[in-house]
Amino acid sequence: MYIGLGNIPLDAAALHAVIRLTNDKIIMNTVPYFINGSEYHSKSTRRLDIYNPALGKVIRQVAAASREDVDAAVKAALAAFPAWAATPPAKRAQVMFKFLHLINQSLNEFAQIVSEEHGKTIDDAIGSISRGIEVIEYCCGIPSHLKSDFTANVAGNVDAYNIRQPLGVCAGITPFNFPAMVPMWMFPVAISCGNTFVLKPSEKVPSASLFMARKLKEAGLPDGVFNVVVGDKEAVDAVLEHPDIQAVSFVGSTSIGQYIYQKGSQHNKRVQALCGAKNHMIVMPDADMEQATDALIGAAYGSAGERCMAISVAVAVGDEVADDLIARLTPRVKNLKVGAFDCSGIEMGPVVSKQSYDKINGYIETGLKEGAKLVVDGRGIKIDGYESGYFIGGCLFDRVSPDMTIYKEEIFGPVLSVVRVKDYETALKLVNDHEYGNGTAIFTRDGDTARHFSMNAKIGMVGINVPIPVPVAYHSFGGWKRSIFGGFAIHGAEGVRFYTKLKTITARWPSGIRSGSQFNFKRGSDA
Ligand code: NAD
Repeated sequence: MYIGLGNIPLDAAALHAVIRLTNDKIIMNTVPYFINGSEYHSKSTRRLDIYNPALGKVIRQVAAASREDVDAAVKAALAAFPAWAATPPAKRAQVMFKFLHLINQSLNEFAQIVSEEHGKTIDDAIGSISRGIEVIEYCCGIPSHLKSDFTANVAGNVDAYNIRQPLGVCAGITPFNFPAMVPMWMFPVAISCGNTFVLKPSEKVPSASLFMARKLKEAGLPDGVFNVVVGDKEAVDAVLEHPDIQAVSFVGSTSIGQYIYQKGSQHNKRVQALCGAKNHMIVMPDADMEQATDALIGAAYGSAGERCMAISVAVAVGDEVADDLIARLTPRVKNLKVGAFDCSGIEMGPVVSKQSYDKINGYIETGLKEGAKLVVDGRGIKIDGYESGYFIGGCLFDRVSPDMTIYKEEIFGPVLSVVRVKDYETALKLVNDHEYGNGTAIFTRDGDTARHFSMNAKIGMVGINVPIPVPVAYHSFGGWKRSIFGGFAIHGAEGVRFYTKLKTITARWPSGIRSGSQFNFKRGSDA
């Protein structure tokens, strides 16, 4: 039986869990928003399709938020701000402790929600949620993180001290690739600092945000402190132009990030925009080749390459290293187990959408046309029972050169390019000349080379024999060059700085009270 939804034919048997039949009418399950502590149903008639990428089919829809919807969320957040900002940090931390407990308790259910809409394996989903959980753990210590400086006697009987105050209503705009973790980079820090928050998650993967909103409510977060609206450019523009939003955190592609930064700044908002990447891993002749190969398999193909910290370029120093690397990688890439997230033993799921699928295949075609050697071709794979899914097997290119499109642009798929260089200096220059500067790694046994690289790479996050150097939550995450706009890294101490305003107070008190005449103090009580 086929059901037409717009121009997409749907197999009802595969969708029985999400389509309700009422009086012979077919209603697509619609994801609500979360505003002022309750589910909120938009009046917007524009609907966005949400896919299960393994099936290649629409499983539910969400209304595309209008300006009115965004305004409703901001109004709720604005109303909740004064009381929440005045709540002692230790009380805010108690909500974080409860939220942490609830998320830990429901990890498997949460991972299922992430994987169904994104396509990543359950293990990947659990891993990424766990990295988000680390940020919540950091926020449980917010009373300490908000402690500030005090200088006694900056002048005769004058003291100076800093306090950091919350900004007001903050907004987050997040990408599809980490439906739970990237929002968790933002809102736990924002709200534990005393702000209220409006999250606009990727319209491709909204259910994880709704899940977190419900858990925050269960944890005792007051209504209006955390709100979720889902939409596309219309909703984003409404956020960027809204006069009551003080700060915007964005994570996504560079072209959109630059737009968000410019437009948000024009509207006087504090903006942090973390963007696209092309991460290089240098393999030196003295590297442990087995370790380097393992690292590349995980870093290039994990999560189907849809990670902003994925390694997409392996820079082999010397032909001998390159030949060895290709020989070791080839069978591993060919044998990657690709399948749907809910099948066992899977290493790599589908890519997120038909659009991504076509784009990645287009890059592979371009790579071939421009003269790179496709050593492993993962195109055209079919998975039994998931024939319409957006699956691409691991792809490995050798002899990629810096003038090629597949070297210059972010592919965001399971495609690794090997670039051959003659020496370390050329490798370092490649890393530094690339427009992106998110992450990089070097594999070597030589401390001097490693140290030189860590000091001289123009990149925000550097790994030494660590392929994906994503900082733990109490450090901060952020790239350089066109991988970031606005200069603020995310979470950790930088996150606290982003979500608070510095105030410096200089105080002198008049003398005379200590005599006790006004307050009838007993002798010695002012000691
Ligand atoms: P994207 O830029 O397409 O979307 C990100 C957000 O912007 C979404 O919420 C989306 O709704 C919104 N958006 C999309 N088009 C818009 C438009 N025209 N105007 C206004 N808003 C718009 O990114 P994506 O495809 O969801 O995610 C993949 C990208 O994110 C990759 O480039 C990846 O490198 C990057 N990323 C970066 C980091 C980082 O920390 N640097 C982390 C994760 C992902």
